[in-house]
Amino acid sequence: MAEVNPFESLQEQVDDAAAYLDVDDDIVERLKHPERVLELNLSVTMDDGSLERFKAFRSQFNGDRGPYKGGIRYHPGVTRDEVKALSGWMAYKCAVVDIPYGGGKGGIVVDPGEYSTTELERLTRSFATELRPLIGPDRDIPAPDVNTGQREMNWFKDTYETLERTTAPGVITGKAISSGGSAGRVEATGRSVMLSAREVFEYLDRDIEGATVAVQGFGNAGSVAAKLIDDLGATVVAVSDSSGAISDPDGLDPREVKAYKGETGAVSGYGETEAMTNQELLTLDVDLLVPAALENAIDRDTATNVQADVIVEAANGPLTPDADDVLAESDVHVVPDILANAGGVTVSYFEWVQNRQRFGWTESRVNDELEAVITDAFDELVTAFDTFEVPDLRTAAYVVASQRIIESYREGGNWP
Ligand code: GLU
Repeated sequence: MAEVNPFESLQEQVDDAAAYLDVDDDIVERLKHPERVLELNLSVTMDDGSLERFKAFRSQFNGDRGPYKGGIRYHPGVTRDEVKALSGWMAYKCAVVDIPYGGGKGGIVVDPGEYSTTELERLTRSFATELRPLIGPDRDIPAPDVNTGQREMNWFKDTYETLERTTAPGVITGKAISSGGSAGRVEATGRSVMLSAREVFEYLDRDIEGATVAVQGFGNAGSVAAKLIDDLGATVVAVSDSSGAISDPDGLDPREVKAYKGETGAVSGYGETEAMTNQELLTLDVDLLVPAALENAIDRDTATNVQADVIVEAANGPLTPDADDVLAESDVHVVPDILANAGGVTVSYFEWVQNRQRFGWTESRVNDELEAVITDAFDELVTAFDTFEVPDLRTAAYVVASQRIIESYREGGNWP
C-alpha cells in the first residue's frame, strides 16, 4: 500500500472545496497550514529508574473561531505531519458543526501497551507540564483520541490545576464524571456515527432497518457505533481490530463482542465466526461500511474493490483523496469524518460549557442536544451539496466549514 501523507490529504481536501468558493489564494493558503506546532522530547523516569525519551507534538491549526480544540493520541505511528493533519481536520470539524472552537491536536510517539500505569502517568504529567504555557480553558483544550481516555484526561487536568494553583476543569475534556466530565461523552463519537448513518439512509430513501453493516476498528468509536447502529435494527455482520476481523452473516451482537474483547483483549476468536483480514472486511458486500480505525485504511486500490453502498467515517481520515475519487465515480455515498465523528468534540463542547456553568446536564439533555447539532449539520451539508454542485459530501463539508472560518477571519481582520 502506497504511503499517503495525511497532511497532504488535508491540503488537497481544502483546495478541492476552495475551488467552489469566491476566495483569494492567499486566504486559502492560510487555511492549509497550522499556525504553530510544538515539538517536544519528554524525558520520563521508568519504573526501573532509567530515563526514556518520547517525542511529542501539539499542533494549533487555526484559532479564528475560538480556542484550539482537539485530542491527544498515544501511538507508535504518530508523526509531525499526522498531528498537523489531525489538527486541521479538527478546525474544519468544529466549523462544520458550528461550535465555537478552532482546531488543534497532540500526539506522543508511544505504544502505551508496553508501559506500566505509573510510567504512563508520568508521561502524561510530563506532557501536560510542557504544554502548560500554550493551553488553558480559553486557549487550547485537549481531549481523548486514539489510546487515551478518562484516565489520561484526569491526570492531565490534575497536573494543570496543581501547577496553576487553581481549579480549571475546562482545560481538558473527556474527563471522568467525578473529575468534571460530561454524561454521554464516552459514547458521543459512536453516537454521531449512528446519527449520520441514520440521516444518510433517510436521505437516500433507504431503510437502515435490516441493512448489513461492517465496522473496521472496535475501539471506542467503532464499538459504540456498532452497538447503536444495531439498536436501529441494522445487522452488524463483521467487525475487526488489529488482531483481525470476524464475520457472521446472521449478525453479531456488538455488546457481546465488546464483552469478549474486554476479557481477551481482541475480537478474534469470538463465537462461531469466520476469521478474515481487515482488508477482506473493507471489501465485503454490505450496505454500510464504517471505517473506525486509523488514517488511510481505504486507498485507491481498496476503494476499487469496495462493495458497500454507503461509508460513514468514524475514524479521522480513513479514506485517501484517491479513494474519494474512485468512490465518487462508483456512486458510493461517503459521510465524511468531519461530520460523522464530530459527536466527540460536540459533547466535549457541552462538557466545557458545563464546566463553566458549574452545572451538570442529564445524559438525555446531552444526547438530545447532540442529535440536534448533527442532524442540522447534515442538512446543511446536503444543501451545500446541491447549491454548489460539488462531487461529494466531503467537499460540501469543507465548503461549509471554510466559509465559516473565512468569515470570522475577515471580521477580525489581519493583525499585526
Ligand atoms: N479526538 C476526538 C476527535 O478527533 C475528539 C476531540 C475533542 O473532543 O476535542 O474528534
